Amino acid sequence: MKYLLTSFLLCLSSFASAAWQAGAAKADITPTESVPLAGYGGKTRMSQRVEHPIWLKALALKDDSGATSVLVTADLVGLSDRMIAVIAKSALEKHGIPRERLILNTSHNHSCPVTEDVLWLYYEFTPEEAAARDRYTQMVYARYEQVIGNAIAALVPAELAFEQGLAGVAVNRRRSRGPESRAFGGQVDQDVPVITVKAGNEIKAIMFGYSCHTTALGGLSINGDYAGFAQLELEKSFPGSVALFVQNCGGDANPLPRIRGKDVEATELAGMYGRILAEAVRQVIAGTMKPLSGPVRAAMGETELFLQPGIPLDELKQRVPNLTGMPKREFEHFIRQHEQLGSTPDRVKYPIQVWRFGSDFTFIALTGETVVDYSLKFKAAYGWNNAWVCGYNNDLLSYVPSLRVLKEGGYEGVTGMFEYGHRAPYTETVEQQITTKVEELVKAAAK
Ligand SMILES: [Zn+2]
Repeated sequence: MKYLLTSFLLCLSSFASAAWQAGAAKADITPTESVPLAGYGGKTRMSQRVEHPIWLKALALKDDSGATSVLVTADLVGLSDRMIAVIAKSALEKHGIPRERLILNTSHNHSCPVTEDVLWLYYEFTPEEAAARDRYTQMVYARYEQVIGNAIAALVPAELAFEQGLAGVAVNRRRSRGPESRAFGGQVDQDVPVITVKAGNEIKAIMFGYSCHTTALGGLSINGDYAGFAQLELEKSFPGSVALFVQNCGGDANPLPRIRGKDVEATELAGMYGRILAEAVRQVIAGTMKPLSGPVRAAMGETELFLQPGIPLDELKQRVPNLTGMPKREFEHFIRQHEQLGSTPDRVKYPIQVWRFGSDFTFIALTGETVVDYSLKFKAAYGWNNAWVCGYNNDLLSYVPSLRVLKEGGYEGVTGMFEYGHRAPYTETVEQQITTKVEELVKAAAK
C-alpha cells in the first residue's frame, strides 16, 4: 500500500509538473566604456574597472494553458516608467508577452551604470557623461529584447520546484544608523526563496531572492554587489544553469558591515555575503523541494498612493537661491511642476502584479523600494511556505514605507521622498492602499 501510494504520488507530481515548458537565458550588460555609476547621489562616479560582468537574466514559463510568462532580473539599480514602457512594448510586439505576464525586477545594484532617467535628480552630468549614459541605455534596451526572445526560444519540458532557506546577511539599516536610530524597529526578512527549473536531471535555472539592499560596495568598479557574487557562485556550482537574483523587500535592509571607500576590503565582504547567500540556496536545492504546478494565472492592477501637501510655491522660490546640488534640483523640479501643471502632483500610480501558480503558490510583485513589512505581512496572509513577495519591480518610484515606517519618520519613510521627485511623504493610507489592491489581485488570480 505504501509503495502504491508513493508511486501514485510520484505519478501525480510528474503529471502536474510535466505540463511546464521553461527556458532561461542571460545577456551581458557590462558597459564597454567608462560610464557614470548609479545609486548614490552627490559627486558623479565614472566607472574605472569591471570586477565581474553584470547581466540581464530571463526565465520564460509556458504552462499547459499555452500562456507564456516571463520574469527578467537585472543587475541594475532600478527601471523607470519610461524604460518599462520601452521594454514592455518590445516584449509584446516582438514576443507576444502581455504586460501582466512580464515581471521586471532589478537587484537595486549600486555598482551599475546609470540608465535613462532612473533617479535623475541624483545626477548632474556633462554632455559627454550624458552621452555615455544614453549609449549604455540603448544597449540595455537591445539586451532586454534579446534575453526575453532567447528565454522563449529555449523553452523545453521542465519541472519546477520551490522551497526556501535562510541567510543572515540583512540587517535593518534604520536601526543600525547610530544611537539616534535605536528606537526604530529591527525587522528583517532573512528568507531565501528558491525556484528551481529542471529538465531531466539537469538544473537549467535557479531563481532566488533576498530582502536586502545591494550596497556592500560603492566604489568605482562595475559588479553585481553581493547578488552578483551569489549568482556567479551558483552558476559555478550548477554548470550550464542560469541563476537569477530577485530583490525582494529590502528597502530598509543593508548588508552589514559595509566598508565605504575601500574597494578591496568591501569587495571581499560583498563576495562573502554572496557566498553565504549562495550556500543557503545550495542547501535548499540539496534538500526536498515542493513541486510547483501550473498554470500561472496572472493579474495586474494599479492603485494610487497619496502624497501629503508639498512646500508652497512662494516658499520654494524663496529657498531655491540658497540651495546647491541635489536639493536645488529637487526644488527647481517642484517649481517647474507648479508652472507646468498648476501644482505639484498629489498622488502617484502604483502597479502591482500577482502570479498564482496552480492552486497553492502566490508570487506577489510590488513596485519601488518596498520595506520589509510588506514581505512579512503578505507572507503571513498568504502562507509563509507558499508565497514569494518582491519589491523593486516596475518604476523605482520611491521608498515605499509601511504605516509603521512612515510614522517613525527617517529616510525610508519621510526624508527620502524629495530625491525621487515627490513633493512630500505619503499619507497614512499608503499601506492600506497597497494591501487592498494586493488582496483584490490575489483573489482575481486565484479564480
Ligand atoms: Zn535604495
